[in-house]
Amino acid sequence: MKRVWQPPLFKSETKGHDRTSSGAKYHAFVNNVSLCGLHSQQTDEFDIEVFELQIVAMPELACKKCLKKVGIK
Ligand SMILES: [Zn+2]
Repeated sequence: MKRVWQPPLFKSETKGHDRTSSGAKYHAFVNNVSLCGLHSQQTDEFDIEVFELQIVAMPELACKKCLKKVGIK
């Protein structure tokens, strides 16, 4: 099972809007559903991905609930 950290993205809003720099938190997605249960998206369709090491280094970038589920914090 692959775990992917991504900010929540919405296909219709990606054009002309930089959703990733709007301060959105990164969530941990497994099977296209975030571990906190708040978001679902086709993670394969987006190139944005941060390495879990970066999340560990900067947990303030990530959703607290997802961090807990993953066991980082
Ligand atoms: Zn989350």
